[in-house]
Amino acid sequence: MRLTDLNSGREIGANCLLAEFGGLRLVFDCGLHPKLDGRKALPQLDKIQGGVDGVILTHCHLDHLGSLPLLLKQHPTARVFASAATTLFVRRLLSNSIQVMKRQREETGNADYPLYVETDVERVENALAAVPLANPRVIGRGGEEVALTFHLAGHTAGAVGCLVEHRRKKHFFTGDVHFQAQRTVAAANFPRTPVDTLVMECTRGATATQPSFDRGREERRLIKAINAVCDAGGSVLLPAFAFGRMQEVLMLLQEVADEGDLADVPIFCSGLGLDLCDYLDAASKKTKQVKFRREVLRDLGILPLSRKYVQPGKNMPERGIYILSSGMLVEKTPAWRVAANMLDHEENAVFFVGYCDPETPGGELIGMNPGGEFKFKSLDHTSILRAKVERFHLSGHADREELIDFAKDLAPKDIILTHGDPPARAWMKETLAAALPGTRVHDPDPGVPLDL
Ligand SMILES: [Zn+2]
Ligand SMILES: [Zn+2]
Repeated sequence: MRLTDLNSGREIGANCLLAEFGGLRLVFDCGLHPKLDGRKALPQLDKIQGGVDGVILTHCHLDHLGSLPLLLKQHPTARVFASAATTLFVRRLLSNSIQVMKRQREETGNADYPLYVETDVERVENALAAVPLANPRVIGRGGEEVALTFHLAGHTAGAVGCLVEHRRKKHFFTGDVHFQAQRTVAAANFPRTPVDTLVMECTRGATATQPSFDRGREERRLIKAINAVCDAGGSVLLPAFAFGRMQEVLMLLQEVADEGDLADVPIFCSGLGLDLCDYLDAASKKTKQVKFRREVLRDLGILPLSRKYVQPGKNMPERGIYILSSGMLVEKTPAWRVAANMLDHEENAVFFVGYCDPETPGGELIGMNPGGEFKFKSLDHTSILRAKVERFHLSGHADREELIDFAKDLAPKDIILTHGDPPARAWMKETLAAALPGTRVHDPDPGVPLDL
């Protein structure tokens, strides 16, 4: 296998891997960089020489999906292989991405936007092929062939890892993975038998796991903190990705509310997240790869967030729980807008429940001391941080120790690190080298092919 990481840098960024097997060319994911603008956010698609025989879409987060319409525009005959659940989400998420890009064009004047239009999204939808789990799918051309087998990856609704078998060699791609069950998805169900190559995500490589950590206890800590703020008359902002994380939080709140342990305050959600509840509901009925009931919205009495934003600095007129995207408080998203109404007031709180890149507004807020100044540049507003800010470790990514154990079980000849910032990669590389002395561990240069 010849592998080229087409991400623009050694980071999480725009995930896209080119894997060549003889003359056969596969592309794993085709994401959009969440922190870069316009065409700079694209993976290095020009490095793909010749045709593409197949695209594997591991899951529907935009850092894996967001550039797919452009790849398909260049390679219109390629099919996109994904889990049945994932095929149900693609169109809705890409259409939303077009709306966001159109707004960005208006606001920033960046003429790159939108990077694609609805007909490009239709092309992706027409190319989708649902691949059943644990069932090899053969792709071939000119006498060369590979077999792809999908396994649930636990990370978010529909996420899979993929085993590629080619000429008696086995290559396993984790995609984004979580080895513990969540409410909307079961734990990853990856095979633990030897392979030749392991391509592994390492999001949490720089995050030490406390030996006493327990997800259930962390959830209870979150609920207790939410209740304390609400009981004292404050509001809670829970920044959450609209796809997957928001539905996880809703199911948790529902469980607690059923037990009578949730503060009785209104709960607000942003539009896309509410809409995606219907999609997850449909996927759980059609595929069994997802567990979600849209009735949760009714049972919790969820209200849509008003489209009219409150003047920055003023407190939200209605006290309650606000579950809003984006999870990293990216500029101009509903969570970021409402944060401008939360931070100045000491009775409020912002609780982060997922991964937050240190260079995003969410990461900046987490690192800030009380009394610090938080700038909402495009709103022309600076908040003085008086609200409580706390982080709860309910990530959808595997602990670094779990990844090391997984790698040991697979005992590959080569490990290729992806989907991690430099400190995460450095820890993984060093730890894997010590744990598996016979294995070559690669932290590939972006855009440079690696022959394995
Ligand atoms: Zn993801
Ligand atoms: Zn990702």
